[in-house]
Formats: sequence, C-alpha cells, structure tokens
Amino acid sequence: MARVSEVAEDIYQIHPELNFMFSLSYLILGEKPTLIDPGSTAQSKVVLQTLEEELKVDLDSLKYVIPTHLHIDHGGGAGYVARELPQTQVVVNERHARHLIDPAMLIDANKQTFGDNFADKFGNILSVPESQVLSVSEGDRIDIGGRTLEVLYTRGHANHHFCLYDDNCHGLFCGDTLGMYYPEEDGVVIICPEGFDLDLSIETIDRLRKLDPKLLFYAHEGVGRAPATLMTRAVQEIKDCGEIVLEALKIGENSKQIEQRLNEYFTNNVSAKLNYERMYLDLTVAGYKRYFKKIGLYS
Ligand SMILES: [Zn+2]
Repeated sequence: MARVSEVAEDIYQIHPELNFMFSLSYLILGEKPTLIDPGSTAQSKVVLQTLEEELKVDLDSLKYVIPTHLHIDHGGGAGYVARELPQTQVVVNERHARHLIDPAMLIDANKQTFGDNFADKFGNILSVPESQVLSVSEGDRIDIGGRTLEVLYTRGHANHHFCLYDDNCHGLFCGDTLGMYYPEEDGVVIICPEGFDLDLSIETIDRLRKLDPKLLFYAHEGVGRAPATLMTRAVQEIKDCGEIVLEALKIGENSKQIEQRLNEYFTNNVSAKLNYERMYLDLTVAGYKRYFKKIGLYS
C-alpha cells in the first residue's frame, strides 16, 4: 500500500511503493481537489485507491489531474484516470495536448525506451477524451479554489515539461526539472533522458530561481527545503556531467563505461550511500549523447 504524508498545508505526498519506475504523486486538497503527477497507469490505480481509502477523498470531486510532463512515470496514467473519473480534467501544455488525445507517439517512444512489453509493468497508455483535456500555456493560472497554480513552461528535461507554482505556500511542483532529491542524504541526482537539452535546462533553472520558492515538491523521493542551494547543485551537476560525458565520448568510450564514470561522480560528489544503479544513469547517458549529437559536438 502507498505511503502518504502531509508535506505542506493540505498538500499530500503519495509514495506508491512500486518496485519499478514511478514518481511521487501530490494531492492538493481544497474546493477543487487536484492531483499532480498521477504516474503510469499501474501507479494511478494505486494512487486513486489511496485517495479513496486513506485520504477519504470522494473521487467524483477530483477536479484536475496535472502531469508535469508526458514521461510514463508522470503522465502515463492520465488516460486511465480520465476514463475512471469522467468529471476530471487533465491539464496539459497546449503544444502537446494532441499526444494525450492520440497517444500513439507516446506508446512508440516508450516501446523504444522500455521495450515492446513496457505495458506489462507500467500498464497501457490510454487516450484522454478531448472533452477532458484542459490546454494551458505559459503564465496561465489555474484556480483550484483557495489557491492558484501558475503554469511555467520549463523545457530542458523534456520539451513537454511544465512546473506549477503555488503562491499560497510558495511551493514549486518541479517535476523532473531539478533532478531527484534524496532527503536523507540531502542529495540531488539529475535526470537527463532523451529529449534533454543542457542549455535549456540551465536557462529554466535560472528562471525558476527568480521565483524564490520556499519549498520544492520533487517528483522523485522528497521535498526540498533549501531551494536556492538545491538549484545551484542541479546546475553544477548538469554542467559537470556534460563535461564528463563529452570527454568520454571523444575518447571513444561506450555507454556502459560512461555510466560508470557518472556513477563515480555521484558517489564522490553527492553521497557514497546512494545506489546509482537504480537512478536511470543509462537514460541520462543516452540523453546527453543525443544532445551532443544535436548540437554537433559528437557524431
Ligand atoms: Zn521525466
């Protein structure tokens, strides 16, 4: 069963306790209950059950479901939630709404990354009916009753990523933009999968810094309570890992060898206690490789 904790007033973090890739889901309780990052379909099932059984939420009152981006561990279950709860609206960046309505491209991308059988684990990616899609763009404010969430289009980790800023608690739902945060080790580990863009990532973080948030609601592992420091660390890691990967590519190392270098970097610079085997370093190496190819630094 999932683990639930109240991380700010009326904001609940739901850890789905799955043994494969997942995100943390956040429920904001209020006049218009809102779920951020429902996760994959497999995760969404656990999350909806938890809302109902542990948090005693009337599921018919759930107003918005907001995936920060379309990666399967954040938004893969949006269609499932929409089907289960026909009154709910799924909030998506206007430029990518079509991929929720017709998920063929998302399904293809996941097959490439996780294999043809990705749905065995994650569950299928279902279409969101057009009538349940709410398209938003940069600067929009979503009124969820008693508080508003400001939409910040934040490219870098993925070009379909946006963050949400809650000016009630000065908290930022940052998705994967700032990496993953491990509170016990006070460690940040960046995630840079295919579609990652180094310059845009840094630009985005600089922009988020100006909001001066007090809380960072990370989609992986925990809540950050020293945002300025954590953002600085994410930027440093993005630059450092970029240098490491590029140097290794220039001397002809393969992906496994580069992964090992990143493993060493995080062990020495973040914490020796974390298990980096489980932190998608393979995806990060692939993301940097693709990026350096795109900008012509590696062929
Ligand atoms: Zn992601």
